[in-house]
Amino acid sequence: MPTPEPRYKRVLLKVSGEAGVGGDGFGIDPATLQAVCEDIAEVVRTGVQVCLVVGGGNIFRGKALAESGMERASADYMGMLATVMNALALQATLEKNGVYTRVQSAIPMDAICEPYIRRRALRHLEKGRVVIFAAGLGAPFFTTDTPAALRAAEMGCDALLKGTSVDGVYTADPKKDPDARRYDTLSYQEVLAKDLRVMDASAISLMRDNQIPIVVFSIRERGNFLKVLTGQGVHTTIA
Ligand code: UDP
Repeated sequence: MPTPEPRYKRVLLKVSGEAGVGGDGFGIDPATLQAVCEDIAEVVRTGVQVCLVVGGGNIFRGKALAESGMERASADYMGMLATVMNALALQATLEKNGVYTRVQSAIPMDAICEPYIRRRALRHLEKGRVVIFAAGLGAPFFTTDTPAALRAAEMGCDALLKGTSVDGVYTADPKKDPDARRYDTLSYQEVLAKDLRVMDASAISLMRDNQIPIVVFSIRERGNFLKVLTGQGVHTTIA
């Protein structure tokens, strides 16, 4: 059986710092990084244009730092810098796997990456380069969910893929509740009304207003990114 064609031409993949780069510990796990980059390379080879947003939770999360007494805005800037480190790790590993990339940061850092310029990012995508958006929105009091949704809309993506450590959205936490059931599909409104915490509410409503589906899947299972793009593999679609 030939592999089915991907359903989307341009997608944004959002991975948390842990799922995309860090594994289960602090910092960077080379095996996790390599596995995720192999899966991205597989998708890029099919001709799908890929944008990436990575979190920073494997290094710093602003909210957690603030809870231990740090001023929230400073803590969030540290979190944003963590996403830049993860973006550079993904860039280096993707390029080792034969994928051309550009990192664009919402906080300009001329010596290490490009600043975020929408038109330039679009041009990179047209040339088949993976564009990794770093430093979130460049503003505190957000997580990387909202920048992922915003960049997906700005880039005209056909879908926002959320690669996590669970294979979709459940009625309850499947790690704690044996009766938890996975949804195949959900509406944006259901996610917001049931407070399912798939992504921040601002990210969900931005996708709803722009009619961009959100696909939640496990990035921990090898080959799943491409499978999900071709409508296979276990996932939940929010549309
Ligand atoms: N952050 C921010 N503004 C943004 C994006 C991120 O302040 O637009 C900070 C925030 O402190 C956040 C941290 O960067 O906790 C890392 O991102 P996130 O928590 O989304 O990482 P993940 O949980 O996805 O690994």
